[in-house]
Amino acid sequence: MSPLLPRLVSQIQENGPMTVGQFMQIALTDPSDGYYTNQNPFGRSGDFITAPEISQLFGEMIGIWAIDVWQKMGAPTKFQLIEAGPGRGTLMADVLRTIKKLAPPMLEAATVGLIEISPALKEKQKQLLSSLDVTINWHDQLDDIDGQPIIFLTNEFLDALPIRQFLFQEEKWHERAIGLSSDGALDWRLIPATITVPSRLTPKAGDIFEICTPAQTFCASVCEAIKNQDGAALFIDYGHLESGFGDTFQAVKEHQYVNVLEAVGQADLTAHIDFDPLVKIGKNADLTVKTTTQGAFLLAMGILERAGQLGSTLDVERQKNIQNDVERLAAPDKMGNLFKVMTFAARGMDLHGFN
Ligand code: SAH
Repeated sequence: MSPLLPRLVSQIQENGPMTVGQFMQIALTDPSDGYYTNQNPFGRSGDFITAPEISQLFGEMIGIWAIDVWQKMGAPTKFQLIEAGPGRGTLMADVLRTIKKLAPPMLEAATVGLIEISPALKEKQKQLLSSLDVTINWHDQLDDIDGQPIIFLTNEFLDALPIRQFLFQEEKWHERAIGLSSDGALDWRLIPATITVPSRLTPKAGDIFEICTPAQTFCASVCEAIKNQDGAALFIDYGHLESGFGDTFQAVKEHQYVNVLEAVGQADLTAHIDFDPLVKIGKNADLTVKTTTQGAFLLAMGILERAGQLGSTLDVERQKNIQNDVERLAAPDKMGNLFKVMTFAARGMDLHGFN
């Protein structure tokens, strides 16, 4: 049993039911027993595999996107390359390798900043990235980063930020919360709530609406930094471009979905991203905002051409592996459609990848 569970139970006994947001925050990031604090979630032996862990081609395409931003900013001699939630550091390693190969002066201009909450993953990032010839700083939040132009990246970070869930029942909204059943187990509750959903949506009984305020706050601070310091941001995550109803709160352990109230602190908890309010935040900041699917983005960045080049010197079996990886990343029925890509860019930069 997770050591978090008895602590959660006594917290609920003392203070009453907790919101999904409070639950998610504690389960993922509790400083002693949170999922990201202790677990090694990535890879075949872990709980899930992310795009950069599937293939180096993913990071290479993002590296090419970053080079385009740097060139369109006029090749500044100093800039910050920032990633939030870098996991094992694989994406950043592939991006830096690509920059080193295709635009060496850009590597010299870069200071790398990583925003990471997990001490265990910070160690992994240090191990992987220390051999690269670039200064790397770890930050708790974006505000710590000084006034240089920013190229900002993130993959599957926003989905780990706590959502709140609201249920429409008996003609009004209630917030979903977690209380205790008569035998002391975690159990669903409803507590009073007031929310407004987008006016084009008409709720019916049983509909669930999700709000991720931390994702909105985070995007607003990225926009602010880009607006003041120049640059562009790339957000990749699973979710929907238009707000809608639905329960997307999920727990994954050892590559299987499990009950979100089980294995607290030992399963990954995420929710799909509603990109609609994030797009509005970028537009309100007067940035150029574009969205597309991961599949369309990777194809536009040249993943097929690069896969062909990479495979040209390899044997048939390894060529087949590359082809499978590309399909997994870009095919509409794999990650290609579910995952979306959103960019915010300063000074009207028209960036590659969003045809
Ligand atoms: N981008 C990586 C990892 C995705 S998992 C990949 O694609 O493989 C989510 C990452 O976000 C982990 O590194 C986790 O430790 C980090 N994270 C989760 N919540 C965070 C928070 N509130 N602040 C900073 N990092 C966080």
